[in-house]
Amino acid sequence: MSQQKFNPARFDAALTRQWQGMGLHAASEMTRQQWWQAVSGAVAEMLAALPASPPTAGALRHVNYLSIEFLIGRLTGNNLLNLGWYQGVAERLADWDIELSALLEEEIDPALGNGGLGRLAACYLDSMATVGQPATGYGLNYQYGLFRQSFVDGAQHEAPDDWHRGRYPWFRHNSARDVDVPLGGKLIKDAAGLPIWQPAVILRGEAWDLPVIGYLNGITQPLRLWQATHAHPFDLTRFNDGKFLQAEQQGIDADKLTKVLYPNDNHEPGKRLRLMQQYFQCACSVADILRRHHLAGRTLHSLPDHEVIQLNDTHPTIAIPEMMRVLIDDHQLSWDKAWTITRRTFAYTNHTLMPEALERWDERLVKSLLPRHFSIIQEINKRFKKVVEAQWPGDKAVWAKLAILHDKQVRMANLCVVSGFAVNGVAALHSELVVKDLFPEYHQLWPTKFHNVTNGITPRRWLKQCNPALSALIDEVLQGEWANDLACLKRLEPLADDAAFRQRYRQIKQENKQRLTAYVKRVTGIDINPQAIFDVQIKRLHEYKRQHLALLHILSCYKRLRDDPQSPMAPRVFLFGAKAAPGYYLAKNIIYAINKVAEVINNDPQVGDRLKVVFIPDYRITVAEQMIPAADLSEQISTAGYEASGTGNMKLALNGALTIGTLDGANVEIAGEVGEENIFIFGNTVDQVKTLKAQGYDPLMRRQQDPHLDAILTELENGHFSQGDTHAFDRLLHSLTAGGDPWLVLADFSAYLDAQARVEALWADREGWTRAAILNTARTGLFSSDRAIRDYQQRIWQATR
Ligand SMILES: *Cc1c(COP(=O)(O)O)cnc(C)c1O
Repeated sequence: MSQQKFNPARFDAALTRQWQGMGLHAASEMTRQQWWQAVSGAVAEMLAALPASPPTAGALRHVNYLSIEFLIGRLTGNNLLNLGWYQGVAERLADWDIELSALLEEEIDPALGNGGLGRLAACYLDSMATVGQPATGYGLNYQYGLFRQSFVDGAQHEAPDDWHRGRYPWFRHNSARDVDVPLGGKLIKDAAGLPIWQPAVILRGEAWDLPVIGYLNGITQPLRLWQATHAHPFDLTRFNDGKFLQAEQQGIDADKLTKVLYPNDNHEPGKRLRLMQQYFQCACSVADILRRHHLAGRTLHSLPDHEVIQLNDTHPTIAIPEMMRVLIDDHQLSWDKAWTITRRTFAYTNHTLMPEALERWDERLVKSLLPRHFSIIQEINKRFKKVVEAQWPGDKAVWAKLAILHDKQVRMANLCVVSGFAVNGVAALHSELVVKDLFPEYHQLWPTKFHNVTNGITPRRWLKQCNPALSALIDEVLQGEWANDLACLKRLEPLADDAAFRQRYRQIKQENKQRLTAYVKRVTGIDINPQAIFDVQIKRLHEYKRQHLALLHILSCYKRLRDDPQSPMAPRVFLFGAKAAPGYYLAKNIIYAINKVAEVINNDPQVGDRLKVVFIPDYRITVAEQMIPAADLSEQISTAGYEASGTGNMKLALNGALTIGTLDGANVEIAGEVGEENIFIFGNTVDQVKTLKAQGYDPLMRRQQDPHLDAILTELENGHFSQGDTHAFDRLLHSLTAGGDPWLVLADFSAYLDAQARVEALWADREGWTRAAILNTARTGLFSSDRAIRDYQQRIWQATR
């Protein structure tokens, strides 16, 4: 396939249909929001009219990427860029005195995800379309995202995130793909003793498609988001009032099912509705995959030769028993045949090692909502037990670890490992720990099942689109396409030694910082100094990510300035973006503490513009796109062993921010690529963390031994930053001290300050800093999600089994 040329006449006609559809008489009557609607709607219509991408030649399996989140960001600008129509549309709009780039600001971010896991899914769809990997993304069409964040007197305030999905112009309702989904009810046996599931209710899943557009290659693939509509119990053959009541009693209300996205940051709310959502997504997706397979005239046995179902973490695990159920109950396959098909079709990506974050569901809950699935899980568990018995006869401890059903709970990760043909971690270190610490016995059973695929990011959104000035500079010097061949950024390396190039590179960073300065002023009212180091920590708020370690450094800087006003400290702006899950009170207390400390520092005349602390509200893709190109320093300071990969680290390094980070997740590989002189690594390693914990780590002793640390903590305790309120930061302080400091913040504190001193030293050498920044851009091509997708193809999707 090749790129489709932009056709201005067709665009004009489509645009006219758009404003006519709004009941207007001329384009000039449109408001700005209507202009955005009309332009997006017109392009979506043109896109839909293009010939469908033909199936790619060769034997690529179709990838079905199942994810509970797709954090796609604004689509209009990105779609125009990938189509190669941006310039054409911008020129047409100029005739109406409309500036395209300003118009794009009208788009509300689709609220379909909230963190790195969802963003990864979005980057992978972009890359699959770009490298020509046939794929469908399957998710849920949430009406409300997590929440809109604002700060009220420094505390996080949550408001519903209504992103107006009903009027989102990129959606196409593909009614031919709508699906019926049974839920609840009970399991009975027929005359022959075979199980029959009598569901309480049938839900309708509507297929809402968003286009995923390959970069300049004419390929468009769907992101199919299921939306639940009212149950229609009248479709039940044996409907009666009793059953309808039963549905009511079970609390199944279809309209509520895809209303909200639950917080998912390695925290499980344990909500019944969430399990229903997961099942709903899986049932719709499995039905759709099988329908496509049947339409192609293929037999069920050949399913794994043509389709892969990639599970993005355990949230879509129910797809496994659902596939078994459909094969056995609806298609009358034997258990063994169904199992062979299922086992060769599913692959699982693990995203966390934290035991508390591994999904488990109460057996009772699963049984009440999905009685048939529960019986299938029991059978899988029973058969797997024999395998374990054969390998470790009589070893109860091993079975307790490996069992799918244990302690009245269903362990979703175990179900994935047992039922799939591949398991992968998301960075080299993480994948090693998956094998060594999380699943060692499984690895012993099936050593070839385990893989690493280091995460990646799409260079289209995270460089080409968000940093146009740097992209133009790269265009100029590389004289060729790089946005789908990121490894060729290596050719920039020699330019790090070219003073004139450094000057231009630095100038671009400076302009990006100026742009962010204006944005910060607009959204927070705070004046920041664009000459200062822009020290950026953007990611969801979680203890393991250690925003509170950054806070201690801020307090340290502030104390240094007061103790020695002549101190030669480089001016810094600390920029944060993060949401805390609504029920995660410690995380909210950390936000509150950062905001309260910011208030004092930002208003201290002695400090002036040498230190500023800014918490940008409502962190999301659109905010990330502003912050990343303007960052000098990228904070990646998780406790070693807990950040599976990180992708924020990749985006920032690619855009020329230097990383200060622990040897965790993909930081390890970033350090390997950029060279240790171009990154600031500090802190306890995974092994040292383990040793410390085993030895009985004592944060109170750390505090006693470090007067500077003690002074800082005392100021948090004594009300200095909270108008005398000595309990304002109790949760945070308890966690750091009496609570045992589970994330080893105090253990890494002094090493972190040392690394920050190295940051200051390099910053003082302007040319040296710029040189390192250029090398970060030049050497992070490996972290393209195109490369990651090719790794999946080679190691997992096309592997012969
Ligand atoms: C990339 C990204 C993330 C992931 O950030 P990490 O630092 O890897 O946790 C989260 N949210 C948004 C909006 C992102 O763009």
